Amino acid sequence: MRSGVMTPTALESLVLLLRDRGYRVVGPQVRDGTIVYDELASTAALPRGWRDVQAPGRAGLERRDDDALFGYAVGASGWKRELFPPRQRLWEAVSDGDASFHVVEAPEPDQPLAFLGVRPCELAAIGIQDRVFLHGLAEDRVYAGHRRGLLLVAVECHAPAATCFCTSIGTGPGLDVDADGVRAAGSAAHATTPAPAVPDLVLTELLDGEHRLLVRAATDEGDDLLAALEHREATTGDLAARAATLEAAQAAIDRHLEVDGLHDLLLGNLAHPRWDDVAARCLACTNCTLVCPTCFCSTTEDTTDLTGEHAYHERRWDSCFTLEFTHTGPASVRTSTRSRYRQWLTHKLATWVDQFDTTGCVGCGRCIAWCPVGIDLTEEVAAIRATDGREVTA
Ligand code: SF4
Ligand code: SF4
Repeated sequence: MRSGVMTPTALESLVLLLRDRGYRVVGPQVRDGTIVYDELASTAALPRGWRDVQAPGRAGLERRDDDALFGYAVGASGWKRELFPPRQRLWEAVSDGDASFHVVEAPEPDQPLAFLGVRPCELAAIGIQDRVFLHGLAEDRVYAGHRRGLLLVAVECHAPAATCFCTSIGTGPGLDVDADGVRAAGSAAHATTPAPAVPDLVLTELLDGEHRLLVRAATDEGDDLLAALEHREATTGDLAARAATLEAAQAAIDRHLEVDGLHDLLLGNLAHPRWDDVAARCLACTNCTLVCPTCFCSTTEDTTDLTGEHAYHERRWDSCFTLEFTHTGPASVRTSTRSRYRQWLTHKLATWVDQFDTTGCVGCGRCIAWCPVGIDLTEEVAAIRATDGREVTA
């Protein structure tokens, strides 16, 4: 597979090439004081010269002192908005006028997607959602429709946020590409580390005086794209600059989640008093599940138009933090915030492994930054570990 070095200007050629080939290109851009992923007509819309500042309960942007295009950590909500949209029509029932009706399935997307700027932890999140939606008991038609033909341009991290902990999970901050495939670099994999979705191209933004992009192809399609783009061969200096960038990113991540024995720790502490402490702060607002790139729960709703001739069956995101989520028969099963937070955390970090063989967390830190009261799952786990409640009573 080809590799090389491009100028930031050549990135514009990549966007144009992808659009010429029929892709709807989606990439990072600044909106409402944060980074979002949305349709990208040109690299002029990239968040040039911005960094994100994230902390528990806090997410914002500040200016960098350079022209980095990818000088932030992750967008507010992940790529799941594209593959698993927040609201999606599944089918429509159309009256035939004689007390009968016929069903029209929602059309398949008419354009393949190309994501530009996917972080290593986000590739792992897409890998998890692939496992759920494509390789479970049945393929999810909507997800498969968006996922089919998806082209991924990954970008290694050089500016992690204070909320990142991919190094604990084994999902980042870099990506190695070789004959064996693609895997996270800069952290050690665990038995429960999710495998990343395979990117077509992997970029590393280098800012050591000369602003440039190291590009490595990881698929035939990526190789073909790179062949069509202006680039030069990578030198040992470029490769050394990439290694230094990755090392600095790794060193900048100091948030830690100890994953050793995590499954048994959490499931052995279902009566731990810490669940009461966190429930006293949690607003059950659902933010953490909505921003999480791996959460996949949904519900369906039926509506009709005013003529009564059309009924719509739609799917929308749901959250295990709502009272209605477990409404079964006459009542909800999880009536307390304590039980709902505990369900979320133990599913994400423990029972997810029983279900899908990997953890449900990729260490992106979004749930920490976007929690309005700053609840931090790494802190919650550490508190339970510090007083391992297999000896503590509720
Ligand atoms: S649980 Fe939090 S840190 Fe983990 S993947 Fe979800 S949003 Fe990211
Ligand atoms: S943990 Fe935070 S973000 Fe999640 S539901 Fe509770 S208050 Fe909302």
